Formats: sequence, C-alpha cells, structure tokens
Amino acid sequence: MITQPAASHFIDGEYVEDSSGTPINVIYPATGEIIGKVYSATPAIIERAIESGTKAQKAWARLSGTERGRVLNRAASIIRERNYDLSVLETYDTGKPISETLYADATSAADALEYFGGLAGSITGEHIPLPDGNWAYTRREPLGLCVGIGAWNYPTQIACWKGAPALACGNAMIFKPSEVTPLCALKIAEILIEAGLPPGLYNVIQGLGDVGATLVSEPRVDKVSLTGSVPTGRKVYASAASQMKHVTMELGGKSPLIIFDDADLENAVSGAILANFYSTGQICSNGTRVFVQRKIQDAFLKRLVERLGQAVIGDPQDEATNFGPMVSQRQLDIVLEYFEKAKSEGARLITGGKPIAGDGFFIEPTVFADVTDDMTIACEEVFGPLMSVLTFDAEKEVITRANATEFGLAAGVFTADLSRGHRMVDALDAGTCFINSYNDAPVEVPFGGVKMSGVGRENSKAAITHYSQLKSVFVRMDDMESPF
Ligand code: NAD
Repeated sequence: MITQPAASHFIDGEYVEDSSGTPINVIYPATGEIIGKVYSATPAIIERAIESGTKAQKAWARLSGTERGRVLNRAASIIRERNYDLSVLETYDTGKPISETLYADATSAADALEYFGGLAGSITGEHIPLPDGNWAYTRREPLGLCVGIGAWNYPTQIACWKGAPALACGNAMIFKPSEVTPLCALKIAEILIEAGLPPGLYNVIQGLGDVGATLVSEPRVDKVSLTGSVPTGRKVYASAASQMKHVTMELGGKSPLIIFDDADLENAVSGAILANFYSTGQICSNGTRVFVQRKIQDAFLKRLVERLGQAVIGDPQDEATNFGPMVSQRQLDIVLEYFEKAKSEGARLITGGKPIAGDGFFIEPTVFADVTDDMTIACEEVFGPLMSVLTFDAEKEVITRANATEFGLAAGVFTADLSRGHRMVDALDAGTCFINSYNDAPVEVPFGGVKMSGVGRENSKAAITHYSQLKSVFVRMDDMESPF
C-alpha cells in the first residue's frame, strides 16, 4: 500500500501542498520506519482552508437536510466498500492491529455518516402557540465554520464523529488530525468529495499544536470540537471562550471499573481486558482503575494472567495479531516511566512491565496489583497497556474512591445484582456507564465526559444540539400594543 499521501492538505476538493511548512514524518509504529511525510500548514494554507470553508457553507446550509444526508450516506457506502484498504491504512497510521481496525474504525466512521445522514432531514425547530392567536417558531440553524481537532488513537473515527454531525447540520468543517496520525482523515476528505460533497465543506489541514491553536483563535471559526488531553483541552477551551465560540471537549479519563464478588468472573475478566488492552490501552474511556472486591481478588488475578497469556503480539497487519505496538516512541517512553513509578511506589507487578525488544514500539500488557488510591498510576491517565488493580470491601467505600478523581469520562460495574448495578450508576460521576460490559460506543448513544473529562456530547441526537443553534421567531397575528 502507498502510504505517502498525494499532498499534505485537502482543501476545496483537492490535494494542496506547501512544503515551506514544518515537515512531519509519518512513522509506522510496528517498525519505526518513516512511511510518509507531510508539512504543517502555513498561514497561507490555513487562510485557504478558512476561505473555502466559509464560502461553501452558505450554499450547503440552503440545501434540504435530505439532500445533505444523501451525500453522507453515499460516503458511508464508499467507506464500507473500501473497509479493508482503509483498515490497512489505519493500521499503518496508528499501529493498531488489523484485527481491530477492520471492525472499529472505518466501520465506525461509516456508522456516523449513516446515522447523521439519516437524521439530517429531521433537524427542525418547533411551533410554540401563544395567547391571542400569536405564535412563535424556532429554527435550528447551523453554526457556520467548525473546526475539528483530533487525537491519534482513532484518526478515521474521530474525523467522522466530528465531520458527520457538523455536515448534517449544514456546517463546514476544517479538520486537523493529530500530527502523529495524519493519513486517515485525508482519505475521508477524498471520499466525501467522491460522494458528492461540494468542495470546501470538509477541508483537512495538517499541523502541530500551533496550527490547532491558530484555528481556535480565528474569528471566522464558530465552533471547536477537540479530542485530546485535559491540558490541551484547557488551552483550547480558554481560547474559544474569549470569542464565545461553541465547544465540544472530548478529553482524558481515569475511569473506574468495579468488579463485585457476585459477578460472573469470566465476563469480568473479559471486561477488564477489553477496558485496558484493546488498542494497546490507548483509549480515553478505558477502565484503568480496576476495583476488585477482596473475596475474588486472587481468582480474578489468576484468570487474568491466564487470559493475558493468550495475547498475540506481533505484526499488526497480520489478522492473527490482537495486541499491537504503542503509537510512538514518545508514548512508549511515557508508559515505561509509569511502570518505574508504580514499582518505586510499591505496586506489585503481576505480569508484563517491559518493552519488547526489536524494532517498533512494542510493550508488554502489564498488570499491577495492590495499587492504592494515592499512587501515581491510580491518579494519572497513562494511555497505555497498564492495568491497576485495587482492592475494595464495601459498596459505599468503592463509590467514594471511584469518584475521587478530577476525571469523569466513563465507569463500569460488574455484578449479578442488577439493582446494585443501577444504584452504582446513579452514584458514579461519569458521562458514560457500563453495567456488565465495557467500552461499547454505538453511534446511537451519547458519548462524552463530566468533570475535567469534557464538555458536550458526541454521537446520538445530542450531537445535533452541539453543531446547531436555535433562532426564535415571534409572529404577531393581532394588532401591536404600545404605551404611547
Ligand atoms: P493532545 O492533547 O496532545 O493532542 C490532541 C490534538 O490537539 C492534536 O491534534 C494536537 O496537535 C492538538 N493540539 C495540541 N495543542 C494544541 C493547542 N494549544 N491548541 C489547539 N490544538 C492543539 O492529545 P493526544 O496525545 O493526541 O491524544 C491523547 C489524549 O486524547 C488522551 O488524553 C486521551 O484520553 C484523549 N482522548 C479523548 C477521547 C474522548 O473522546 N474523550 C478520545 C481519544 C483520546
């Protein structure tokens, strides 16, 4: 597969290059090889993207929702037809095994385009009857020019989770992928054009954080949707606030996964594995603080270690592989540092704990037990394959401990007692909760965080409210009254 894109940026329906920008190497995480090069957007590229987006948006907003939806649906079909090639590309971009990308990336992008394509014709206001025959109505209008800024863990999915609702509502979008994974969003832009999207409505420009910051501070941009870390979220939110821009913030987490002693052990172990090691642990909503009730802790750890022995670590383009490398040397180094901190603070290493020799950014799936609430690995987001196992005795105790974090993205509970499951969900500070499951993210369900984990929601009908605004129109049917 050719991984070098035709050019760095995709603006106004075509590839555009400006090699005077800072070069960004595209590195295949499985081998450490450079597989492509793009250039960070220059001021001229940013200006071109803004101008074409602003211009194209007006005509797009005047189409019927059904017409807009038809384009999104066509794009979804093309993505499904090309799922294999897009999955191979996603694997080159991120290092995630193809056994995952075939099912979780382009397919999720297509789901978003289909779902919001289907909703586009139903984005309406309401009629509000008032006394004396008067009435009002509301119009749900687009925001204008939206900016999407992506993290590197799900580049295809993020490009569409932001792009699909934005376009459905009649907006234009400029999407800036993470500099670590610049390839996939360009393909989405190409496919949208092929599906009939008018040029300019979905522009992709590359860049480091400074390009993102320039877009956020640009007065012609009406909304910013960021997927990234809390420190970046703070900066982006503050900058957007100075111009009263709309924002969606999908940020980090340190989510609790609570396993009661009445839970089905095999399901709980599956949940914990999925919640910590899928995508090599590089998922924002991961349940990285695994609270296990004392009575079953030994049995849980024993079964967990047995199951982790079945991980197939290796070439991510081989469908038999189910555990790939970290996305970058930098991310690998960050995780190794956390391993050292865990050991020095007294956590008990159960399995893993080392990088895997050879090229590429491979690291062992790692579990620490006897983790206490104050240890660094229990407080900070690691974003790698590190599971912390904490012991608890009582329901009230675990609720307090689970909520004692600045994050609030997700939370999971494994228990045979469904009343307790719902009681726990009621008490947990999290935007998304799972009962006897973990990390499901169907497009029909709102996704997002509370506390420092974010603002707003992606997916579902809720996303429409974050990519549109209401205009209220009062209509008088009787005569005007006036004081004089
Ligand atoms: P990051 O915050 O370093 O970067 C995210 C994006 O922001 C990148 O495109 C980057 O170039 C850009 N950026 C950096 N500084 C900026 C600035 N000042 N202004 C504008 N843009 C700027 O995050 P990352 O390392 O790419 O991704 C990992 C983080 O993303 C983790 O914290 C993870 O939890 C989070 N994440 C959250 C979700 C979610 O939906 N809640 C999903 C995936 C990842």
